[in-house]
Amino acid sequence: YYNTNTFIYLNGEIVKAAEAKIDLYSQTLHYGYGVFEGIRSYKSSSGKTKIFKEEEHFDRLKNSANALNLPYQWTARELIKATYEILDKNNQQDAYIRPLVYAPANMSFNPNKESFIVIETWEMQPFLGEKLLRVMTSSFERPNPKGFKIEAKATGHYVNSILASQEAKAKGFDEALLNDMNGFIAEGPGANVFMQKDRVLYTPQLGNILPGITRATVLEICETLDIPVVEKQITTSEMHGADAAFFCGTAAEVIGMESLDNIPFKKQWKDTLGIQIQNAYKKLVVEKAFTTTSITI
Ligand code: PMP
Repeated sequence: YYNTNTFIYLNGEIVKAAEAKIDLYSQTLHYGYGVFEGIRSYKSSSGKTKIFKEEEHFDRLKNSANALNLPYQWTARELIKATYEILDKNNQQDAYIRPLVYAPANMSFNPNKESFIVIETWEMQPFLGEKLLRVMTSSFERPNPKGFKIEAKATGHYVNSILASQEAKAKGFDEALLNDMNGFIAEGPGANVFMQKDRVLYTPQLGNILPGITRATVLEICETLDIPVVEKQITTSEMHGADAAFFCGTAAEVIGMESLDNIPFKKQWKDTLGIQIQNAYKKLVVEKAFTTTSITI
């Protein structure tokens, strides 16, 4: 992720990652009480570095902090500017960007007067969407929204993701698919899910899932391409009978599934709505100029 020449943004300054320090008494380290983002930048078709949906991501970071009652004193503008600066200093274009808002030293459960922020970036290869995933239904459920602020991208929630992902890999699968506490399909450890039946796409409605920015982008692409989408509760058996399915997320982008619980999806990926979405997404992220409200495909 970093070497001796990698720069990060740390509380208003650009410093070397290898020399940066955080407080070992941070409440975030001990209790998983922090919030973060996962963002991508791409080398755009004009050759410039373009962070995809940067405002949406920094807005969600702020919303996540608010949901957890973490003080948040930054503007999206200053953080976006800082991110471009470190990408430039690190000579990175196709990169993954990880802002993390963390708490000061505090061994109690009491609130804090301030928070800290770090932004790290590392190189990530452009689009690896060719592979198809073998997915298993996890024995772990997603955190119950009555016990967590599920709409927040909180560090502690990711223990659930790690457990589910490790379980799937230990059983020889590529990825896990988790249900919500009511037994309906929720999402992957780090991605939202869509399935296709006939000429319609289905995806779990908001409420028990992270409101993914890629999920929202897929819905926008569907509108542009006139693909019908229904947001609803989906059962595992419905999904087993689906024609196709895919995960979508900032890091995963749009990635097709080969099977769920060793039951293959009926259509070849090349014949699905998913590949159309994948191709549109692939184009969208490297467009010279795109706005968050209108898409040119
Ligand atoms: N669900 C979970 C649990 C995630 O961690 C992510 C990745 N942030 C997503 C969905 C997809 O969200 P996004 O498209 O905003 O990356």
